Amino acid sequence: MTSARTIRVRGVVQGVGFRPFVYRLARANTLTGWVLNGEQGVEIFVEGADAGLEEFVRDLVAKAPPAANIAEMQVARAEPLGLLDFTIRESAHLNRPTVRVSPDLPVCDECLSELLDSSNRRFHYPYINCTNCGPRYTVILGLPYDRPNTTMNSWPLDAFCSAEYSDPDNRRFHAQPVACPECGPLYFLHTGKQIDGGKDVIAKAAAMLRDGKILAVKGLGGYHLACDARNAPTVAQLRERKFRKERPFALMVRNLSIARTIVELTEDSEQLLTGVARPIVLAPAKVEFPEVAPGNNELGVMLPYTPLHHLLFEQGAPEILVMTSANRSSEPIAYEDEDALRSLAEIADAFLVGERPIARRVDDSVVRAGTFGPAILRRSRGYAPAAVITLPSQQPILALGADLKNAVTLVVNGQAFVSQHIGDLDHFSAFRAFQETSRDLLAMYEVRLDELLVVHDAHPQYRSTTHALSLPVPGRLAVQHHRAHIASVLAERGDWDTRVAGVSFDGTGYGDDGTIWGGEIFGGTLRSGFQRVAHLRPALLPGGDAAARYPVQAAAGFLSQLETLPDLCAHPFDFPSRYRTARELIDRKVRCFQTTSMGRLFDTVAALVGFTREITYEGQAAIWLEQLAKRSMTSASYPFPFVENELDFRPLLSAVIADRRRGESPQKIARSFQRAVAEGLARALREVCSAESMETVVLSGGVFQNELLLQNLKPLLERNRLQVWTNHAVPANDGGISLGQAALAAFAGVK
Ligand code: ZN
Ligand code: FE
Repeated sequence: MTSARTIRVRGVVQGVGFRPFVYRLARANTLTGWVLNGEQGVEIFVEGADAGLEEFVRDLVAKAPPAANIAEMQVARAEPLGLLDFTIRESAHLNRPTVRVSPDLPVCDECLSELLDSSNRRFHYPYINCTNCGPRYTVILGLPYDRPNTTMNSWPLDAFCSAEYSDPDNRRFHAQPVACPECGPLYFLHTGKQIDGGKDVIAKAAAMLRDGKILAVKGLGGYHLACDARNAPTVAQLRERKFRKERPFALMVRNLSIARTIVELTEDSEQLLTGVARPIVLAPAKVEFPEVAPGNNELGVMLPYTPLHHLLFEQGAPEILVMTSANRSSEPIAYEDEDALRSLAEIADAFLVGERPIARRVDDSVVRAGTFGPAILRRSRGYAPAAVITLPSQQPILALGADLKNAVTLVVNGQAFVSQHIGDLDHFSAFRAFQETSRDLLAMYEVRLDELLVVHDAHPQYRSTTHALSLPVPGRLAVQHHRAHIASVLAERGDWDTRVAGVSFDGTGYGDDGTIWGGEIFGGTLRSGFQRVAHLRPALLPGGDAAARYPVQAAAGFLSQLETLPDLCAHPFDFPSRYRTARELIDRKVRCFQTTSMGRLFDTVAALVGFTREITYEGQAAIWLEQLAKRSMTSASYPFPFVENELDFRPLLSAVIADRRRGESPQKIARSFQRAVAEGLARALREVCSAESMETVVLSGGVFQNELLLQNLKPLLERNRLQVWTNHAVPANDGGISLGQAALAAFAGVK
């Protein structure tokens, strides 16, 4: 009996070896028909014996290539056509593309063994790849994903590569970026005025790294600055040249066993480390590397993911390298050769430059195996631009995020695509990257401005807001910052109707009443929206958002709410004069804003136990305070009462001051403070949840990147029988805002 099926597969199914897999599977089951890349995904027609068809459909999911991610599969009966063979048809281009672009993939084991096999044509060739591995998002210029639409379009295939490319039994069948040393791009080493293109440039680069030199290395989504992590003077030099005072550098280590020697890895963190996204994984340090992560007992570690990285180690590079995004200070990562050569000239001793252009900048991602599961701190390479969720919106939506840690989200045909991490928009180059990325996403999915709903933060002075207001679009919607944080968690889970208590703790966001929010508890659902039900007791913030850079300035605002205060400029507090100036602003009621920011409360306590200088990167004082707290084992706590829907920080700060004056150790005070925050919040949640009969708590916002706080909270919430939801697919920090904005906009439209 011959029957037939038409099958449509949606998800990440292009550029991951899916069509050749289908071809082989059809032949293995003696089926005829065809497969093609349509704009709605992969379309398949198969006919043959029923048993073969059944097995085919089953294995389509069960044996799909590792990098494929099937979101949806529709199977329908069809009339057999009497086809004689199975073919791979040309891609069709009819309507708006809804296929998903694959994130970039790490080099696969087969390519890796060819890379190191001296008899192989691609021996030591840094651009080796196949349908299971290699660049995707960083080489794609447009859809559908075919060679002419990639940055490989100026390297015609030679006979060897072409034969592999057109052989359905070969794993390079339709591998769009396929190349070999004869026909493909190469790497060059630029040292001073010399440009070396010899076969041994990677060995030479590795030798320079061994000699303590700083190299700019072109990778998948941009340039890295690399040097020997064990060479403290070199790392110090890198800091100085890069104008990066204290922010930790990421490390790339040769392999997993070396990773295990420098950081404590759990099963979960190893899974993240070796997973297909190959992110930077944060884990407790076992070894101290001076200058790599000053004052931080966590290290960010990643494994090699491109053939070039493997070659560098293979050819003698130090086994632990600093591998940090190449940029000056906090500008976006450099990815264009000319720009890199110019802007990094004062930083790098040499440049290892590959010829294949990078279509768009994509940083390394940063993750951690957290208390409530994987937590993503920076979502970029390996994750972007995969669709995160499906939303009920037929109108395309562009959500522009917030100004810090910006990422944008495009919703098209209901699919929400969250862009790679862009950066802080107050840097001009990051703002330009923000505009480019929005344009890029719209172009890729063929969305026109005149059909677009643009969503932005409610902050009237955000650059993303003014940009939104300048776009010629039919619809705009402002979404309050902290509601977007809560919505991002529910959107990730596809949960539209569960009533939750949403806790949004972060640095700053513009509140409904025009004051600076950041310690908010909401009640509501994604579909119906969120009402503010509780918050931190308001304090003052002299100087407004600028106070975020100076913990003592935030402290002035919070401490002004206390009845009595010692002289904080005297020992043991030793606050600098900035504190006094800030107090004067408060006394004169000049440039003082009301705030409920939890982030600033953390800053205040950091200042009280010793962090009295300016911070050099966002969140630094809070991270410092968490690290400090980890060094104490005390189970003491401070009072942090919840009264009339307000968490009152005054008794808490008074107790901190008293302990500090009594000579209590900063570690112990820091630890007791972390516990107090957890206990105060747990009490608040118990009240809020029982009053509104809710059983689920959502935690989001930058403060919840604090693992110690989460660890303290977990048992307390469990005891109250509250289930806890946190972010996993997008960051809890402002990198997740655009997804939350998009979700709230999707429901605002369908109410
Ligand atoms: Zn491969
Ligand atoms: Fe935020």
